[in-house]
Amino acid sequence: MAFLAALRGLIDLVAPRACPGCDHDLDWGELGFCPACAPLLERMPHGPAAYAYGGPLGEGIRRLKYDGRTDLLEALHALVKPLTVAHLGRVDVVVPVPLHPSRLAERGYNQAALLAEPLAAALGVPLDEERLRRVRPAVPQASLEGAAREANVHRAFEARRDDAQRRVLLFDDVRTTGATLRSASGALYRSGAGTVRVQALAGVQ
Ligand SMILES: [Zn+2]
Repeated sequence: MAFLAALRGLIDLVAPRACPGCDHDLDWGELGFCPACAPLLERMPHGPAAYAYGGPLGEGIRRLKYDGRTDLLEALHALVKPLTVAHLGRVDVVVPVPLHPSRLAERGYNQAALLAEPLAAALGVPLDEERLRRVRPAVPQASLEGAAREANVHRAFEARRDDAQRRVLLFDDVRTTGATLRSASGALYRSGAGTVRVQALAGVQ
């Protein structure tokens, strides 16, 4: 993992960095999104998602998930890092929402875990990718409506027992109806979590 991170760092140094929203090369020293896309990012100051899903951010997340564009992580991390302040001192571990093992094998990485890395680091707590397991493959939530979404993720997760009752920050890249986060939170509470806070990078309004 350390080797992969180092390799990724090396690639980031030599490759021109692209804006996650429009894929244009960023100028040297520009962080995150380009000047055309940045004003289109919509902050959601209240609730579990930091930004409205869609626009340049939706594009960036879609490319990261489905086009293998891990080169966009650095830019997306620029949006994740500032979320630290809301959770500082309030959590003992960051747990990304897991993919089902079959999807993880297909994609090669869990985008939620990759996005959460700098958040856990800034909070000074571990990122625990083993705590939650997705035991049933889910149909993409975006293709379902209402009650079907709840049924789709009901008891979809199992959590490893934690008798230390650590406080969990549950992280996902996109919150749709909240059904996935509710289901995962339930599994964490049943496994002994002290508290469960939730944080998504983007939320569907
Ligand atoms: Zn752009």
